[in-house]
Amino acid sequence: MSEISTPQLMKNIMSDQIIVNIQLDEDKCQGSKCGICACICPTNVFTVESDKICIKSPDYCKFCFKCMEICPNAALSITR
Ligand code: SF4
Ligand code: SF4
Repeated sequence: MSEISTPQLMKNIMSDQIIVNIQLDEDKCQGSKCGICACICPTNVFTVESDKICIKSPDYCKFCFKCMEICPNAALSITR
């Protein structure tokens, strides 16, 4: 799971940005064999690195749930 740094957290609070906790269950995720979440995310939160899905930019998440809803293996959890 990626963590948001304290400076980024303060930046999010100051800008009223929604703070999102994204959790990826790597035991369930099919990585680059799937990659649907990386394709559907409107703000490019995910990247594919070394055949795995990486939560690269969690602070860009807009809390739309598209990735969680479309994941075929229920590998993603989005909370705030
Ligand atoms: S949609 Fe689900 S199974 Fe597919 S790459 Fe994303 S997290 Fe993994
Ligand atoms: S909830 Fe929406 S914006 Fe956030 S990571 Fe998932 S698809 Fe991207």
